[in-house]
Amino acid sequence: MKQTIPFNKPYLTGQEVQYIEQAIRSGKISGDGRFTKLCKAFLEQRLAAQKVLLTTSCTDALELSALLLDLQPDDEVIMPAFTYVGTANAFVLRGAKIVFADSTAQNPNLDVTGLERLVTPRTRAIVPVHYAGIACDMDPVLKVAHRYQLTVVEDAAQGIESFYKGQPLGTIGAVGAFSFHETKNVTAGEGGLLAVNDLQKAARAEIMRENGTNRSSFFRGEVDKYTWVDVGSSFLPSDMIAAYLWAQLEQLDAIQHRRIAIWQRYFDGLEGLSALGVGLPVVPEYATNNGHIFYVVCRSLAERSALIEHMRSLHISLAFHYLALHKSPYFANKHDGRALPWADRYTDCLVRLPLYYELGVEDQQRVVEGLLSFYGC
Ligand SMILES: *Cc1c(COP(=O)(O)O)cnc(C)c1O
Repeated sequence: MKQTIPFNKPYLTGQEVQYIEQAIRSGKISGDGRFTKLCKAFLEQRLAAQKVLLTTSCTDALELSALLLDLQPDDEVIMPAFTYVGTANAFVLRGAKIVFADSTAQNPNLDVTGLERLVTPRTRAIVPVHYAGIACDMDPVLKVAHRYQLTVVEDAAQGIESFYKGQPLGTIGAVGAFSFHETKNVTAGEGGLLAVNDLQKAARAEIMRENGTNRSSFFRGEVDKYTWVDVGSSFLPSDMIAAYLWAQLEQLDAIQHRRIAIWQRYFDGLEGLSALGVGLPVVPEYATNNGHIFYVVCRSLAERSALIEHMRSLHISLAFHYLALHKSPYFANKHDGRALPWADRYTDCLVRLPLYYELGVEDQQRVVEGLLSFYGC
């Protein structure tokens, strides 16, 4: 019997255990230790951000962003409905009202053509999501944000090493949140990062991340007392988490090279399906592909279910993705009733193919052939 090809398999570079052991033996395993500093310096340089702050998850980085906005009850935040629940929860926890936007026809990112119509006097922020690491069209987002003085918070959870017109994702808005969850390109099991691009917000973000204290300034010798100066929470990952992450970041180029090659082989092998009306990922000319997700968009929900079943019979695991949040049990009665047909379409029809570092050429060929056989090619 053929071995099952899983949807995802976390990649180990081989250094993780050694670095975690070093962190433990150093006797300094709380946040902001040696490995946190290594990760921070590396990512600050890669992203060329004003400041980067390691957090326990991307959701936490988004919660920190929401704190930075000083949201008042009934303030509104615009984001796509086709996203992870954490994108919304971070703002819901601060009492904000979420205004869900539709996706575009070409890919699941925020439909910027309808964006301005969603702005009201209560709107405070726009949260574009770079789905599959492919950039949302940011210039129109920035334009609307500038016109109405809104803050742009990028959900760059999937956006590592990807760009919009040459600029790293997560460094275009005031802040950008990244994830190092097990399913992402670079992982720490659970982990995240906030890139702060607005200098004014950088000092405050650092304070809010450490329970509203000026602890970091104190350790840098900038103030002589360490005190409570603002609201905040504890968003620091332990240095053991950072040790795992550092083992991954050291191999970032190799990881990206491999994932992008796999993505490209899928694209080349499946390109013909588009003639049948099956959707393939579209990378607009302003965007890049970082090999995070490879998906196809089936022609119907029934077709997608049949495809998943067909592939399962071939011992290949596919995964659909988000259930658009405007129709979720928690939110349905809060939604203003606008139809979001593209969000619904990706909910019903998008399906992700196995994509992980160790996916070999032969196994990948099995996946491609499985899809082609389902579509009778
Ligand atoms: C993974 C993901 C998150 C959440 O990341 P965590 O680190 O698990 O909190 C948020 N938004 C998007 C778009 C994601 O893909």
